[in-house]
Amino acid sequence: MKRAYNFNAGPSALPLEVLQQAQEELLNYNETGMSVMELSHRSNEFENVHNEAQSLLKQLLNIPDTYEVLFLQGGASLQFSMIPMNFLNDEQIGNYVLTGVWSEKALKEAKILGRSTAIAASSKETNYDRIPDLSELNLTPDDGYLHITSSNTIFGTQWREFPRVKGDLLIADMSSDILSKPLPIENFAMLYAGAQKNLGPSGVTVVIIRKDLLATVPSHQIPTVLRYDTHSKNNSLYNTPPTFSIYMLNKVLQWVKDRGGVAEIAKTNELKAALIYDVIDESNGFYKGHAVKNSRSLMNITFNLQSEDLSKKFLSEAKEAGFVGLNGHRSVGGCRASTYNAVPYEACKALQQFMLNFKQENQ
Ligand code: PMP
Repeated sequence: MKRAYNFNAGPSALPLEVLQQAQEELLNYNETGMSVMELSHRSNEFENVHNEAQSLLKQLLNIPDTYEVLFLQGGASLQFSMIPMNFLNDEQIGNYVLTGVWSEKALKEAKILGRSTAIAASSKETNYDRIPDLSELNLTPDDGYLHITSSNTIFGTQWREFPRVKGDLLIADMSSDILSKPLPIENFAMLYAGAQKNLGPSGVTVVIIRKDLLATVPSHQIPTVLRYDTHSKNNSLYNTPPTFSIYMLNKVLQWVKDRGGVAEIAKTNELKAALIYDVIDESNGFYKGHAVKNSRSLMNITFNLQSEDLSKKFLSEAKEAGFVGLNGHRSVGGCRASTYNAVPYEACKALQQFMLNFKQENQ
């Protein structure tokens, strides 16, 4: 069986070994005589899967006991609303660093809810080609959180270093790079990620949240299911969770552990991204990276060719050669290769070779 070279931005490649295991277990999970999708979410079998996934994530990211791991629904997009709902009272200000479409959307939800917001820094002026310098951060004196997007899926930038903020109220959308490298968890009050890039299939959103923050959620005016403390008190089993997605997440986490953990995965991720960035840098301008060098994402590599026609030709020939998902996001165009954890080194090597050949034939 030939697997595609899958560079989709999300949902994206899953480890072949994980898919094969899921296939083997599909009709009869753990001798239950049924698929994992048919189990009650209150059964011991499912609770084991659920608890194992939480504990593996804690191990892999070195998450201290002062944090909780929640499995929610509604995608990372629902977090954009839940964060201001749960953590901004009338005196507090939600501070946002704008680094692309997703951080703009996060800010927009806080505004819809009528909360006070401020833009702490932005790279909009340069078409989101960089992460703003930490010294540019313009925090308001009031309490309230600072929200960042750690890897910008559409523009291809990524934070290298994280700010420490007053009260340590840093919140990060890590949808595009969670589990791709070790993290200084203690810099964050909360981080969250839709699963469909580095963690598994879509359907579950992972939230890692400091326990003391849960105690600050106001006691009224927030619908039960949109309160973080509801999910924490019920071990994320307040309502029916996306059981199959959590089962797959558990398998992906085990896969990362079997590969030596996040530090080992990070080394491979650096090598994978370097294969493609090197072609861009050594192409004498034939390929042009969108992000400035010190802001480049190791997960989402964005580039253009010299003209729109040439980009189109590149994308069409790449498609014929078996590469999937290289089109840039519909809002920016150009090309993008998402090289998440489960994208094999060999796929990046093949893309490198394809880019070199295409340049040779078209320059
Ligand atoms: N944040 C980032 C950085 C993303 O890349 C995406 C989706 N691609 C989202 C948020 C939105 O996630 P969801 O579709 O899970 O709501």
